[in-house]
Amino acid sequence: MTRSADLPRSSSPELPADTPWHAISSAEVLAALAVTKAGLSDAEAARRLERYGPNALPEEARVHPLRRFLAQFHNPLIYFLLAAAIAAVALSHAVDAIVILAVVIVNAIVGFVQEGKAEESLNGMRSLISAHAVVQREGRRQSLDVTDLVPGDIVLLEPGDRVPADLRLLRARGLAIEEAALTGESVAAEKQEDAVASDAPLGDRTSLAFSGTLVAKGQATGVVVATGAGTEIGRISGMLQAVPVLVTPLIRQINRFSHQLTFTILGASILLFAFAVLVRGFVWDDALIAVVAVAAGAIPEGLPAVITITLAIGVRRMAARKAVIRKLPAVETLGATSVICTDKTGTLTRNEMTVRHVFTASRSLEVAGSGYAPQGAITQEGATEEGIDDAAAIMEAAPILRCGMLCNDARLAEEAGEWSVTGDPMEGALLALGMKAGLDHVHLSVEWPRVDEIPFDAAYRYMATLHRGPDGEHVVFVKGAPEAVLALAGPQDDPARWDMLSGKAARLGERLLGFGMMRLEPRERLRVEDLEGLTMLGLMGFIDPPRDEARQAIAECRSAGIAVKMITGDHIETARAIARQLDLADDPVAMTGAELESLSDAELEEVVGGVSVFARASPEHKLRIVRALQARGAIVAMTGDGVNDAPSLKQADVGTAMGLAGTEAAREASQMVLLDDNFASIVAAVHEGRTVYDNLRKVIAWTLPTNGGEAMLMVLAILLGFTLPMTATQILWINLVTTVTLGLVLAFEPPESEVMQRPPRRANASLLSPFLLWRVIFVSILFTVLMLAVFFVAQARGEDIATARTLVVNMLVVAEIFYLFNVRYLHMRSLTLRGALGTRAVLLAVGAVLLAQLAFTYLPVMHDIFGTQPVSLLDGIILILLGMVLFVVLELEKWVMKRLDWFEELHA
Ligand code: ADP
Ligand code: MG
Repeated sequence: MTRSADLPRSSSPELPADTPWHAISSAEVLAALAVTKAGLSDAEAARRLERYGPNALPEEARVHPLRRFLAQFHNPLIYFLLAAAIAAVALSHAVDAIVILAVVIVNAIVGFVQEGKAEESLNGMRSLISAHAVVQREGRRQSLDVTDLVPGDIVLLEPGDRVPADLRLLRARGLAIEEAALTGESVAAEKQEDAVASDAPLGDRTSLAFSGTLVAKGQATGVVVATGAGTEIGRISGMLQAVPVLVTPLIRQINRFSHQLTFTILGASILLFAFAVLVRGFVWDDALIAVVAVAAGAIPEGLPAVITITLAIGVRRMAARKAVIRKLPAVETLGATSVICTDKTGTLTRNEMTVRHVFTASRSLEVAGSGYAPQGAITQEGATEEGIDDAAAIMEAAPILRCGMLCNDARLAEEAGEWSVTGDPMEGALLALGMKAGLDHVHLSVEWPRVDEIPFDAAYRYMATLHRGPDGEHVVFVKGAPEAVLALAGPQDDPARWDMLSGKAARLGERLLGFGMMRLEPRERLRVEDLEGLTMLGLMGFIDPPRDEARQAIAECRSAGIAVKMITGDHIETARAIARQLDLADDPVAMTGAELESLSDAELEEVVGGVSVFARASPEHKLRIVRALQARGAIVAMTGDGVNDAPSLKQADVGTAMGLAGTEAAREASQMVLLDDNFASIVAAVHEGRTVYDNLRKVIAWTLPTNGGEAMLMVLAILLGFTLPMTATQILWINLVTTVTLGLVLAFEPPESEVMQRPPRRANASLLSPFLLWRVIFVSILFTVLMLAVFFVAQARGEDIATARTLVVNMLVVAEIFYLFNVRYLHMRSLTLRGALGTRAVLLAVGAVLLAQLAFTYLPVMHDIFGTQPVSLLDGIILILLGMVLFVVLELEKWVMKRLDWFEELHA
C-alpha cells in the first residue's frame, strides 16, 4: 500500500474546476487527487489546507459596528429626547440640553456594548458544536472538524450525516441522500459508486455526494473533490451562513410592550403639557421641561437591553453546564419544561458496555471483568453436571464469539493500560469478550474478509455482515435485538429457550443481543431477503451501569414536578430494571412499542401520563409520545441522536440532541445540544432556564416601580400644582446611573435555592404576571409616598428647593437599593445572612451607585449641572432608615401574600 506520506512534496494536485468527477472511475479519481484509500498523511493534508483554504462558506457580512451603534438611536424615546434637547437649546437651557445628550449617548454606548457581548457569547456557542466528519487519514479513522477537510480526504458517511464537502463515492451501500438543500427535491436520491455519463444533469450524478445534503440511509466512503466555495452549493448560491440574531418571542414581546408603553406615555405627556399650560398656567417652556421629565422618568429605556443580556447570560451558564443552546427561545422554554423524555443508553447509563452473560444452545457462561480491558475469566454458570470444564465450554461457544467479533465495526485501543473503544461501545465489548476467550481480531478479519454488510438501523434493530470464509464459503453473521434475530431464524430453532434466557438477563438490567449465522451461495452483495432461515448462535447480556449523576438529576426532577420518561429501543425488562435502579418513578409502569401501536392517538393521550418507560420503541413512537404529552398541555424536552429522531426533536418544545453520539441531522433539528450526552445536563439546563426566567421577572419587578414612582410624583405635582420635586435632568441621572448598575445586577443573580423545589411554571403564563403587576403598582406608590414625604418635610423645615430636591433624589436611590435586596428573592425571605451579604456583583453595583450619589450631592460641578445641594449626615442617615422601613414593609407584603395565597405564581 502506498502511503501518501511517501509521495513527493509537490503532490498537491491542480484541481481544474471542470473535472467531470462523476464520469471517471474511482481509480482515476484517486489518481487525480494523489491519494490512496488509506487517506492523506497529516502533513499532506496540512499542505492542502494551506493551499485550498478551509472548507467553509463565507460568513454573512457582519453588521458594521458603526451601523450597530447608530441603530441604538433608532427608538422613539431617543427621538423624543433628542427633540427635547433641541428645544432646550432653543430655550437656552444649555445645561439641560447637554445632560439630555449625555444620557442619550451613554445609553447608546451601554446598549451597544451589551448587545455585542450577547452576540459574542452566542457566536462562541456555535463553535462549541461545530460539525465533525469521520475521515481516513494516515490509514486511521479520525473525527475532524468539517472546516479542516481538504480535496483528497477520504470521508465516511453514515445516516444522519450532513455531507461535509463534495465527494466522489468510492463505495456506497444502500446509500440514499436527501438533496433538498441543493435541488429542492425532497425524495432522497439513491447513490452508488459507478461512474455516470459525463453530461448527466446534477440530479443524475449518482456517483457524487454533494456538500450540505443529508444522508438518509446507508453507508458510504467517498473522496473529497471540492471544498468550501468550490462545492456545488458554494457555487450555486454563494450561500452565506446566517449569523444568529438575538430575538426570541419573549424579547419581541418585551420590545412590543416597551414601544406601546413609550407611545402611551408620549401621548399622555402631550395631554399633561396642555393641562400644565392651560389649566395650571405654567410658562410653556417650563411646562415642556416638566413634561420631558415625566416622560423620561416613566419610560423604562434600559429594560430591553437588560433583558437581552439576562438571556445571553443564561445561554452562557447553560453552556458551562454542557448544554449548548442552538435556538434562543429554548432558554425560556426550558424553564417551563414539565416532562423530559430521554434515551436510556448513554444518557441515563454510562454506555460503557461489558458482556456479562453468554448463552448458547447448550451452555450458560458468565464473564468477569469490567470496561474494555480484555481481562476477566469466562466460567460456566451453575453446576457443570456434564463434566465439561470451562475451557471446553468456551471452545463450544467459539461460533458466537466469532460472530460477535466479525459483525462489528468497532476498534479497541490500549494506552498506558487504559482500554478505550472507537465506535459502538457494545461492539467494543464484543471485541473485549473475544480477546478474553483468546480470539485475535486482526487474525479473524484476515481469515474472514468482509464482502458486504447491512448496517444497523434502529428501525429494524439488527446488523448483518457477509464474509468469505477460510474455505471460500460465504457466511453471513447477524447480531441484533433478540426478537429481531429470532424473526430471521429457521423453524428448527426453539424460541422458548431464548425467551426464557432473555427474560432472565433482562430482569437483571442487562442489555441483550442475539446472534445468528448462515451459509450462502457465493455473492458480492448482501440483501435483506438473503437473511431468511438463520441459525441462532445464542444470546449475550451486557451490563451498562446507570450514571450516578443521572440518579441525582432524576430525584431533582421529581422534586421539581418534572416527569421523566425513558424511551428506549431496548428490551422492556432491561428498561424496567434500569428505571428501578434510577428511581424513575415509585413503581415505574412500562409499555412496549407494540402496545403503543395498538392504541389510538386519543387512547395514548389517556395513558401517556402514567407510563414512565417505553421499551422497544422506534423513532415514530417518539413522535406520537411527544404529541400525546403536548395535547395534555405538557412542555416536553425530548432527546434524540439518530436521523429518524429529527421529526420528534422538531416537534418537542426543547428538542435535545446528543453532542457526542448524535448525528448532524439530529443536531440540526434540535434546540439544544448536550456536549456530554448526559441526562444530568438536561436537568442542569432546566435549572438555569428557571433561573433565567426568575431573573427576568426580577429585572422587570425592580425596574418598573422606579419609572412608576418618578412618573406618579411628577404627574401629581403638575396636576395638583406644587413645585416639581425633581427636575428632568435629575430624573435622567437616576435612570442612567441606577439601571446600568443595580438593574443589570439582577441579570447575574444566582438561582434561589428552592428553584428546583417548585412545580414548573405554566407555559402560557405572561411575564408580567398579576403578582408582578401588583408589585409594580404597590412599590411605585410606596416610592411616591416616600419621596413626597421627604419633599414636604424638607420644605416645612424651611430648606430651599435645591436641597429638598437633592433629598428626594437620594431618597429614591436609597429606596431602589433596599428594594433591590427585596426583589433578589421573589420566592423566599430576603432577610437572611445570604440575602443581606449579597453577591459580589450586588455589592459592586451598590458601591458604585453610592459613589455616584456622593458625587451628585457633594461635588460643586454636579451642583452646577443638576442644581443639587449638599445634605447633612443626619439627613443621610434618616434617608437610610426610611429605606429600611420600606424593606420591612416589602418583606411583610411578601409574607402576607404567601399567607393569603392570592398569587398562585408566587408558589409556582
Ligand atoms: P437505546 O434506545 O437503548 O439506545 P437502540 O435503539 O440504540 O436502543 O437499540 C435497540 C436494540 O437494538 C438494542 O437493545 C440492541 O438489541 C440492538 N442494537 C443496538 N445497537 C446495535 C448494533 N450496533 N448492532 C446490532 N444490534 C444493535
Ligand atoms: Mg441508541
